[in-house]
Amino acid sequence: MTSIETKSVHTAQMKERTIQPKVMPVYQTSAFAFSSLEELEGYYEGNGTYLYSRTANPNTDALGQTVADLEGAPKGVAASSGTSAILAGILSVVKSGDHILAAEDVYGGTFLLLKEELSLMGIQVHFADFSDISAIEQILIDYPEVKMIFSESITNPFLRVEDMEVLDQLKKHYGLKVMIDNTFATPYTMTPYNNGADLVAHSATKYLGGHSDVTAGVLVGDEELVALAEKRIVNMGFNLSPFEAWLTIRGIKTLALRMKAQTENAQAIANFLNEKTKVWYPGKGAIVSFEVPEAIDVSVFFSSLGWIKIVPTLAGVETTVSYPYGTSHRALSEEEKAKVGVTRRIIRLSAGIEGIEDILEQLGAAFS
Ligand SMILES: *Cc1c(COP(=O)(O)O)cnc(C)c1O
Repeated sequence: MTSIETKSVHTAQMKERTIQPKVMPVYQTSAFAFSSLEELEGYYEGNGTYLYSRTANPNTDALGQTVADLEGAPKGVAASSGTSAILAGILSVVKSGDHILAAEDVYGGTFLLLKEELSLMGIQVHFADFSDISAIEQILIDYPEVKMIFSESITNPFLRVEDMEVLDQLKKHYGLKVMIDNTFATPYTMTPYNNGADLVAHSATKYLGGHSDVTAGVLVGDEELVALAEKRIVNMGFNLSPFEAWLTIRGIKTLALRMKAQTENAQAIANFLNEKTKVWYPGKGAIVSFEVPEAIDVSVFFSSLGWIKIVPTLAGVETTVSYPYGTSHRALSEEEKAKVGVTRRIIRLSAGIEGIEDILEQLGAAFS
């Protein structure tokens, strides 16, 4: 190589040196190179090499497998967001003409996916109050086309904990698949795959990433179903980028430490708020919802929270609050909001890892 044109393209790759990085590097490459046709054939024979990053990449593979291990599931796959992980999971089970039964209190983005997008694919979705077993069962009797039940392990904003035993019984009786969104609980708190779920989805944007700097999703579960979901992700192109996968894995390394600290803080916050107002805290996880008492102006309360910022997400290391009435449930009509109990006075708090005395002092200041 003599010309600057050639030398600047064929830069030093140092592939002959034995480098052993302590952590997996970012494979920020769109494709992988082969030195011979035999090597290329080897890829198709499944020798574990890589071809093209949309179809597979070491960083995204490592993320899928890491979360599968945490959930106790055989296989996992990463996706571009929690929403696309849920979509891939759905499409691994249902096709045009099939129906889905979903909990009516699912995350707002999931509600839109189910309501607005799946109908375009010929998939009908029924919503039910999942705290009412007879309501669920009536839909399963009326619509034998239902192939899948979808719910969340801990719901938003009132933190109802899904009864996996009931879903498992319905699944067996009606021959269904069950998919659970485990975003709020994380495998630190609950592992739905061990309690009958066939598929478990995560918005890794939340606790798995943990630092509010990635948008990512992961789907884990039954080997065959996850393989089908992986095919949907590859063919439809909602794969995750290597760097986002790398950041998410970095976040997961401290998942247990963060969840321990955040859960302890959430419990202490719930105890503190219980003395002052109505509180929803299921005794697990790090989200606490509460009502601003009638005597306090809601806007003034939000503005009095100082360093506790209003953020329409959750799960970062900082304590934040969100306003379900104006964000996650904004698209619902006044009647729908009233039906699920989301009034202007409901605040959802995501406990961070700060010192609990500082958090309680700041909350106390807002109450006074
Ligand atoms: C945020 C969230 C989602 C959607 O995840 P994205 O990464 O934003 O696509 C799904 N389910 C729950 C419970 C969430 O909190």
